[in-house]
Amino acid sequence: MLEVEALNVTYGRTRAVQSLDMTVGDNEVVTVLGSNGAGKTSLLRALQGAVGTSGGRIVFDGKDMTSKSPAARVKAGMVLVPEGRQIFVSMTVNENLLMGAYLRRDDNIEKDLTEIYDRFPNLAERRHMSAKTLSGGEQQMLAIGRALVGRPRLIMLDEPSLGLSPLYVDRLFNLLGELNKDGIAILLVEQNTSMALDIASRGYVLELGRKVLEDQAEALATNTALTEAYLGGS
Ligand code: ATP
Repeated sequence: MLEVEALNVTYGRTRAVQSLDMTVGDNEVVTVLGSNGAGKTSLLRALQGAVGTSGGRIVFDGKDMTSKSPAARVKAGMVLVPEGRQIFVSMTVNENLLMGAYLRRDDNIEKDLTEIYDRFPNLAERRHMSAKTLSGGEQQMLAIGRALVGRPRLIMLDEPSLGLSPLYVDRLFNLLGELNKDGIAILLVEQNTSMALDIASRGYVLELGRKVLEDQAEALATNTALTEAYLGGS
């Protein structure tokens, strides 16, 4: 589904991502791990089209997306849930969800909103309230709901569990499992490595922008050198 070939992302002299090759298969869950500054956010932002690449290719469903706009990527089915959620606190819950539909021209948006409210009853109850009244966990669900309104085939999430209570971390990972069962492929950047490796089938480890390891998730989870060296044993 997604093929990343020799991808480079640079900011001035900083090489945030260097010669990265990676793939996400149809309906696969893949995680990207690495310490702070490893290049994980830069990778996702390059896949989203928010930052330019300085080399390499991004291919989605056989189509070269490397120089396509962020909007074209959303239309193709690649949707990012950004770090820090970035919901619109001056808008209502419903208005936030509708932002996820801004590229859609079909008549099924209301039907999809109903499905999203069925999935997230807390959001349904507050659909006409300001998004700033939501807890951090509910805001994360809203950010994912907004992404779902874009009808993704690949959902990319940047540190979705950051700052969430243990209850919401569990809910989040259950939700990701459900979305994957519904046929959505997932590319997950997470600091909660054990939960990420639990849900993923494969993982990549980045260090200073370079891929230093890739393996099946089970093998990464039992690699003590890896968990101690790069992942703080978490
Ligand atoms: P974190 O977990 O801290 O978000 P990360 O793995 O997501 O880390 P990035 O945020 O992608 O890493 O950063 C990779 C490198 O690029 C770092 O050296 C960082 O300082 C640098 N960098 C990131 N964004 C910018 C920017 N907008 N301008 C300049 N340098 C940047």
